[in-house]
Amino acid sequence: MPDTTTTPTPGNAIRDMDARHHLHPFSDTRALNQRGARVIARAEGVYVWDADDNQLIDGMAGLWCVNIGYGRQELIDAAVGQMQTLPYYNTFFQSTHAPVTRLAKAIAGITPGDLDRVFFANSGSEAIDTVIRMVRHYWTLKGKPYRKLLIARENAYHGSTLAGASLGGMGHMHRQCDPMLPGIHRIGQPYWYGEADGLSEEEFGLQRARELEEKILEVGPDNVAAFIGEPIQGAGGVIVPPRTYWPEIQRICRKYDVLLVADEVICGFGRTGQWFGCQTFDFQPDILSMAKGLSSGYLPISAVAVGDRIADTLTEHCGDFNHGFTYSGHPAAAAVALENIRLLRDEGVIESVATDTGPYLQSRLRGVIGEHPLCGHIEGIGLIAGLALVKDRQSRTFFDGDVGTVCRDECTAAGLIARACGNRIVLSPPLVISREEIDAMVDRLRIALDRTYARVSGLSDA
Ligand SMILES: *Cc1c(COP(=O)(O)O)cnc(C)c1O
Repeated sequence: MPDTTTTPTPGNAIRDMDARHHLHPFSDTRALNQRGARVIARAEGVYVWDADDNQLIDGMAGLWCVNIGYGRQELIDAAVGQMQTLPYYNTFFQSTHAPVTRLAKAIAGITPGDLDRVFFANSGSEAIDTVIRMVRHYWTLKGKPYRKLLIARENAYHGSTLAGASLGGMGHMHRQCDPMLPGIHRIGQPYWYGEADGLSEEEFGLQRARELEEKILEVGPDNVAAFIGEPIQGAGGVIVPPRTYWPEIQRICRKYDVLLVADEVICGFGRTGQWFGCQTFDFQPDILSMAKGLSSGYLPISAVAVGDRIADTLTEHCGDFNHGFTYSGHPAAAAVALENIRLLRDEGVIESVATDTGPYLQSRLRGVIGEHPLCGHIEGIGLIAGLALVKDRQSRTFFDGDVGTVCRDECTAAGLIARACGNRIVLSPPLVISREEIDAMVDRLRIALDRTYARVSGLSDA
């Protein structure tokens, strides 16, 4: 590796400028500026290179989004071709265009059940805002304007706009910009390893699902618009619910006529080995939000797919749905997403996540680091995984300090981009990762865990 401490590099110039002018999302700007941001210069396949030419395996696919991997010429060509023909036109006032129409049809073709009509936005957060407005509008059209409440979970992530952050269950986001949106209620998360207190996975899944029924009865069934959840919680630390959880949630939603919303922003587009997480966990949502993997992150685009029940209601009544974004269904982003879907399908990427690379990653993780003294538990399916870092495996004692960040930094030093979510380390690599690249990723993680252990084992005796 080149010596970056003495040689002036283009990276240093960028870092200085960045420190002076750029406010980073979800970052402690002061700490970041003292240290200097890592400048990412280029990427190919599952690898990124920084400005000092250090190669890293991108174990996070950017931010859980570059499902097809970096450097795909087909996506670049789709964007360029569309921008030459029609770089922008809106879809507000009686107009449409080919890429958005084709993309809507393609999404209808891959989403399960009757999720055949699609509303477009530009980010996961905007998709979530759209969901909230749509379900409330739906109930008003149905003559039940009092059905306004939303039920979500602790430690859920639904984006960072005011509505997304309000719906999410991240206390540190609420505290910085309260008051949050009213009308949101919360139940516990299905985090078996961290919260089950001796129950079996099956029992705990049912218990946490039944909190939904208790909450519905508490606030009054006729006041509830919808329940929303990520099939697997992503930013919450990759929390894979017990098998019993989602079918029970679906049963309760149907019983009380509460709309069921799947936030598939991370799980969608093959992450769990099927197009959508609800297929892996065997439930049928009334509405499904998607973003990230929809375009593999090459351009910003998101969507909300809606079932007949809601779509028919919206279209039967006259009058506008007073909602939309200037760039809803942006032609270049739509063309890229369409090509991304074609590649995922034609190259059998999702099948290999289901039958080859997904099971391989899961078994390598369990084999290579399952017995590591820092590793309390590994959960995951397909190409998403989370591991709990613990001070003591037997008693499931967690560290008080920020061991996640220590481990995350050791991953970077070992050539792997991973992410820390509290005391959990998460992985979500591009779906095109090969077995050899999975081996390299897991080996680098093992090195990082060893070094983290050396650094914190002093702490754990204190
Ligand atoms: C990332 C994410 C969002 C927000 O998406 P943005 O594009 O960052 O606004 C919403 N829901 C889930 C489940 C996410 O992971």
